[in-house]
Amino acid sequence: MKSKKQYRFKTEAEFKAEFGEDWRWKIPYSFVEDMDHFLGTPYRNEMIPSPNGSWNASVRYEGWTIGLDMLTTRRLPKILADGTIAKVGMKVLWLQSIFQHTGIINRIYLEDKDVNNILIACTCGLCNGINTWNVNICDVKKYVKPIPVPSEECTTQ
Ligand SMILES: [Zn+2]
Repeated sequence: MKSKKQYRFKTEAEFKAEFGEDWRWKIPYSFVEDMDHFLGTPYRNEMIPSPNGSWNASVRYEGWTIGLDMLTTRRLPKILADGTIAKVGMKVLWLQSIFQHTGIINRIYLEDKDVNNILIACTCGLCNGINTWNVNICDVKKYVKPIPVPSEECTTQ
């Protein structure tokens, strides 16, 4: 017998990636803060909502109205410390032995729940671009180019 697809709620990062910053109100049936305990959790209901637009598309679930856009069958993505969904090829930064490294994500381990690591090819000057690091994903942030701060002019009194 074919096993049934396992649905789960999307994470906040997935909602943002799909619907933008106003995701709560852009999702059909909307996703209020009181529903946040559902984020990323398995959907335990026999009834799966129909695609949006079909008759009676939503489903009642633990007192809330759930639409299909809130659910996914994808495996839970790995989320970086700043809430970004980790993707191979993404430039990231992290602190390791007081040095701030930057690098490119080489591999994301999705199979093993206990292995919360990603493999990063270092591109920073410290490592000369030849090292790869196995880093806990909770310590890694997406690299954002620093905004140059105009240096304060010397004030003479
Ligand atoms: Zn490095």
